[in-house]
Amino acid sequence: MKRIALGCIADDFTGATDLANNLVRAGMRVVQAMGVPSTPLDTEADAVVVALKSRTVPTEEAIAQSIAALQWLQAQGAQQIYFKYCSTFDSTAQGNIGPVTEALMDALAAVPGADLTIATPAFPDNQRTVFKGHLFVGDVLLSESGMQNHPLTPMTDANLVRVLQAQCQRKVGLIDYKVVAQGPMAIARRMEALRAEGVGLAVVDAVSNDDLMRLGPALKGMPLVTAGSGVAIGLPGNFGLSPAAGTSALPAATGLQAVLSGSCSLATNRQVKAFIGSGRPALALDPLQLANNASSVVQDALDWAKPLLKKGPVLIYSSAEPAAVKAVQAQLGVQAAGELVEHALAAIARGLVERGVRQLVVAGGETSGACVQALNISQMKIGPQIDPGVPWCHAHSDAAPEGGLHITLKSGNFGSDDFFSKAFAELA
Ligand code: ADP
Repeated sequence: MKRIALGCIADDFTGATDLANNLVRAGMRVVQAMGVPSTPLDTEADAVVVALKSRTVPTEEAIAQSIAALQWLQAQGAQQIYFKYCSTFDSTAQGNIGPVTEALMDALAAVPGADLTIATPAFPDNQRTVFKGHLFVGDVLLSESGMQNHPLTPMTDANLVRVLQAQCQRKVGLIDYKVVAQGPMAIARRMEALRAEGVGLAVVDAVSNDDLMRLGPALKGMPLVTAGSGVAIGLPGNFGLSPAAGTSALPAATGLQAVLSGSCSLATNRQVKAFIGSGRPALALDPLQLANNASSVVQDALDWAKPLLKKGPVLIYSSAEPAAVKAVQAQLGVQAAGELVEHALAAIARGLVERGVRQLVVAGGETSGACVQALNISQMKIGPQIDPGVPWCHAHSDAAPEGGLHITLKSGNFGSDDFFSKAFAELA
C-alpha cells in the first residue's frame, strides 16, 4: 500500500485547495479529493486533502463527514491528520470547528498524544495573523474586517480562545507569541504545561511565516493538527521533504473562459467591480428572481453568455453588498437564500462547461463546493499559484469529457482586486 504522510480534512472546497497549494509549495505531492473517496488512493502522494462541504452544515453531519474522511485517511496510512478550516475561522456560535475537532480527538483517543491539539488560522502570506489569541485580518481585528457581515458565519469576536471555548467541551488555552518566538523547544514545553493544566486545545499565536516555521517542528508526531492553511508550510520538513521544482505543472489550457461569483466578501465585491470596470461583460443574478423561477434565470444566464464567450471571459455573479444580502435573507431565510444561489451558480457552471468553457474561476467557498459537485469533479491536481491561497487546478469532469478543464476555487476574501483578469493571464 502507498502510505501517505499527511492526511488532511478541509471543511470547504476553496480551503482544501488553499491547503493543497501550501503543501505543494513546501514540497509535497498532493492529491485533492472532493468528498471522501470510495476507493483506495491509486497514485503516489505525500498528502491527500479530502475536501468536505462541512463548514455550515448541521454539526452532527459535519462530524459524520469528518470521521468518514479520517477513517479513509487512516486506511491510506496517514501518519498525521490535519483538520483545515478558514483563515478567518468561519464558524457559527455552535461550531463546526470546535465540535469537529473534539470528535476527531475522540476518534484518535487511542493514539498517544491525541489528548492535545493546536488551533491557529494564522496565514501571514494572506495577512491573517494571530496575536495574544486575537485574529487580525490585515490591520484590523476579525470582527471589524467585514467578516462580521458574512452571510452564513458572521464573526463578531476576534478572541479565538473565547470563540473556540464556546464551541468546546475541552479546555482551550493559548501558546502566545513570546513562547513561539523562542522556538520549537519552548513551544513543546508550553504544550506539556498546558496538558498538565488539562487543556485539550491550544490556540497558537503566529504573526509571520517565521513563527509558523518555528511551530512546524513542535508539531512533529502530534496525531491531530487543526489550523488554517498557514501551518502547512512548516510540516513537510518533519517528513524530510523540501520545496522542489515541477510539483505544480499542469496540462496546457484550452477553451473558453468564465468567472462565477457567489461570494459576498469584501475582496470579492472589489474584484467584481474591477472586472466590470475593465469593460468585460458581467451579469448579476437576483436571488428574488431565482426564488420565483430559478430554471428560467439559469437558462437566461447561459443564453446571455453564449455569444459573449467567444470574445473573452464573462462574469456571472450574485455577489452583493451587506445591506442587499440582509434584505434577501430577511425575505427568503439565510440558509434558503444561500442554497438557492449556490444551486443556480452550480447549474450555470455545468451549463458553461457543456458549452465549451475550459477555464473557470469560481469565487466563494460554499459556491465552489456546489459548482465542483455539479461538475462531478472527484479529484484535482494542484497547479501554479495565482495569488496566495489560490492555485489553478486541473480536473476531469463528465461535462468536459475530452481532456478536462482548468478551474480555480477562490475563497471569498482572497486575491487582489484584478484577480478575475489576472487569473486568465496567469494561465496563458
Ligand atoms: P465566501 O467564500 O465569501 O464565504 P461563500 O460562497 O462561501 O463565499 O458564501 C456566500 C454565501 O452567500 C453562499 O451561500 C451564497 O449562495 C450566498 N449568497 C450569494 N449571493 C447572495 C445574495 N445576493 N444574497 C444572499 N445570499 C447570497
